[in-house]
Formats: sequence, structure tokens, C-alpha cells
Amino acid sequence: MKNLFVDQTVSQIGEEVRLYGWVGTIRDHKKIVFIDLRDRTGIVQVVGGEEFKVLSTEDVVYIKGLVKKRPEKLVNPKLKTGTIEVEAKELKIISKALPLPIPVQGDGYDIDEERRLKYRYLDIRRPRMTRNLILKSKSTMFIRNYLAELGFLEIETPILTKTTPEGARDFLVPSRLQKGNFYALPQSPQQYKQLLMVAGIERYFQIARCFRDEDPRRDRAYGEFTQLDLEMSFVEQNDIITLAEDLFTSLVKEIFPEKHISQTPWPRLSHKYVMEKYGTDKPDLRKNKADPNELSFSWTIDFPLFSEQSEKDFFYGSGKAKFAPSHHMFTAPHPDDVLLLDKNPLKVRGLQHDMVLNGYEVGGGSIRIHQPEIQKKVFDLIGFNEEQKKQFSHMLEAFGYGVPPHGGIAPGIDRFLFTVLGEPSIREVMAFPASSGGKISVMEAPSPASDGQLKELGIKINS
Ligand code: ASP
Repeated sequence: MKNLFVDQTVSQIGEEVRLYGWVGTIRDHKKIVFIDLRDRTGIVQVVGGEEFKVLSTEDVVYIKGLVKKRPEKLVNPKLKTGTIEVEAKELKIISKALPLPIPVQGDGYDIDEERRLKYRYLDIRRPRMTRNLILKSKSTMFIRNYLAELGFLEIETPILTKTTPEGARDFLVPSRLQKGNFYALPQSPQQYKQLLMVAGIERYFQIARCFRDEDPRRDRAYGEFTQLDLEMSFVEQNDIITLAEDLFTSLVKEIFPEKHISQTPWPRLSHKYVMEKYGTDKPDLRKNKADPNELSFSWTIDFPLFSEQSEKDFFYGSGKAKFAPSHHMFTAPHPDDVLLLDKNPLKVRGLQHDMVLNGYEVGGGSIRIHQPEIQKKVFDLIGFNEEQKKQFSHMLEAFGYGVPPHGGIAPGIDRFLFTVLGEPSIREVMAFPASSGGKISVMEAPSPASDGQLKELGIKINS
């Protein structure tokens, strides 16, 4: 007899089972006591005797018992295990629970979020949160299998690295061995994945953690998030778009069968068209916004390669240039527009593709520049000084040793799930997100460093 998840009991009528879990609701009927035993797969009703009276909700217990079919009129159609119950033969209390600081029943939306984040390990017990994490795990597993089948290699890239700008502020980590120098946490693996193409990997992906120090929003977590980062060599834009479209269409069918995609193939719309027609580059094309199961995907393409540089583009260039990349500085210009780079940069279209779902940008990517002279021109146009060019000289050097044409995309896994599930915030699909103010509440991070640590790093705090 092996341990079972509670939802497996339903097929065990007449069998003795061993179950572990948490005590949910308790219904005391004098001589007999009913409890809902809960684990991450759901709940099962357990019938016990007077020894069950000592239980409190959220105690962790072991139960050995006999699975019995419920009489027809006691069947609970709302429960996966509603056709059976477990008659307890043995009960062990493994650990007692104090009264909880937040309830774990219900959807939890009405509880103060800071409090939910402080007690996230309890918050995740709520079935909605457990479900979200299960769906996330299933989605990434699906992606891994799908891409492996197509010959993609999953490759990790460094977290302690150098700046890879994606339009946000970097997180810096001081180096002990090289005092006064800093690593930057990657805003994405962009440069590494391009270098993997130079290395001949041809099809790469990674379920990658990205770090960006930018203010949180409904659809953006503070600090870090997860992308499906992928890159391919010897491809055109259509190949990347088709791959991502097929992958996400199959994923929705498999993991979210109750959802329906309103238009296939997904419409491909030019930036100019969507801006004129909808006033946004991520239009919500759902036919019926009241239908929670409608998914409306589209592609926005033909973005301008540059926008006019503004204050917020402080991290690009010397601050004197007129142009900032619309996507990032590695995006290739449309081949028909290359000559315009010298004459009228704002008129150049880029080979960028944004994946849009129900009004959210859930992914972005592009065909990359692979010609060192064009890359140098883009660096000049965005106003890089010699120092800044040196920071990216490894890319230009690598492109000198035989570089395949390449491109890719990076859909955000949390962003995609939050949109598909219609959750009110992206934090609802993350296990331990930062709260406002960038705090990881469970751990009370960030926290001060000790004097010894600071000394070793050669850092003095001005307070
Ligand atoms: N690195 C890009 C991003 O994080 C995606 C890409 O161009 O593939 O948005």
C-alpha cells in the first residue's frame, strides 16, 4: 500500500489507503466526526470516531482508512472525490496548527495583499493559488517537451553578468574579488542567446529569469519574472512567428481546454495600422470581453526601429542622441529600409514582432542584426560613446568569426498565465513575488549587510 494523493482515492473503492494532508473543515456529529482532508490535489471526506474530536483545522495528519462508495443521495457532484468517502481506521496527528493569521479558504482576493505575501506559504494552500502553480508547472513542462521534440536545446546562461539593456534599470551586485566592480543581473539573456547562435547551437531555449528594476504594475512584477527565451539560426521572421503561434495554440488546447482562441491563424497587423485603428500597439481583439474563456491572440509587426529618445531612455547613449531603439539595440532593420538608416532613421521599420493577447503584450522578439557594420551604425544612432561601445564590443567581435542570421522571441510565462487565467494581478501566478516597495515579505528581503560583508566588498553606506 503506497501513499496516495487524495484525488486518487476515488478509484480505490473497497481498498485500504494511506493518506497524508491537512485538516480542512471539521463537522462534529457527536459520535462521528467528518473532516475534509486536503492536499494539493483536492479534498476527500473522512469519517472518524471520537478520537477525531481533538483535531483543529490545518493540523497535519496521517490517516489509514477504507474507501467506501457513498450512497446515491449523499454524492457531492461538486467534488472530484464526491462519490466516495474514507472510513478512518487509524489517525496520527503529525503536527498541530495554531489559529492561522489569514484564512486559506475562499479565493483570497479580499485579504490585504501585503498580509497574503507575508504568509504566502499559507496563501498558496488556497486551492486557487495551488491551481495557478500547477498550471504554471504544466505549461513549462509542455513547452520543454514541445521544443525538445523540435530539436531545441535548453541551455542556462549566467545570472551574474554584465548589463543587457532591455529598457529598464539594472540590478547591480558588488564583486568581492574585484573591488569597485559590479555584476549586473540580466534583464534578459539576449546577448548570450545571440552568442549561442554564433556558437552553432542553432535552436536554443531557456525558461529564463529576467531582472528589471522597474515599478510594478498589474501586468508586471517588481524585480524578476520568467520568460520562455528562444532563439533560432537560419530563419526568417515568419518562421519565428509560426513556431511561437503553433506552440502556444497547442499549449492552450492541452492545458486550458476550456479556453477558445477566437481567430486562427492569429492576425498579423502592422504597427501603423493598430496605432491608427486602436491607438495602441497591443489591441484587445476579443469579440466578447465578458467571455472569460475567449483568447484573442495577434501579432504586431513592422514597428519603427527607433523612437525619439526621451528622458526615460537615460540608460541609452550619452543623452545627446535623438534616437532610442523601439525594441532593443540588436533588432534588425527591415532589409528594404537599410538605406534610410543614414537619411531618415525614424522612417526605418524594424523586424520586431510582438505577441499580443487580450490587450496585453505577452511576448516580443525580432530578427537580429548580424552584420557588424549595421550594428555599429545603430550604436552610433542611439548615441553610444566609445566607452559604451566597448561594453558591447564582444558582440561585434563575435560577429566577425562567422555568424549565422538569427532571431527569436521571449514570451513572458507569468504574463501569459495571468492573462489566460484572467487574474487581477500578475503576482497571482507567482509563488513568492515582491510586494510594492520591492520587498519579499516572507523573507524580509532586502536586508542590511553586516559591517564585515561591507568591508570585504569595499563598500561604505552613506546614510
Ligand atoms: N530579449 C527580448 C526581451 O526580453 C526578447 C527577444 O528579443 O527575444 O524582451
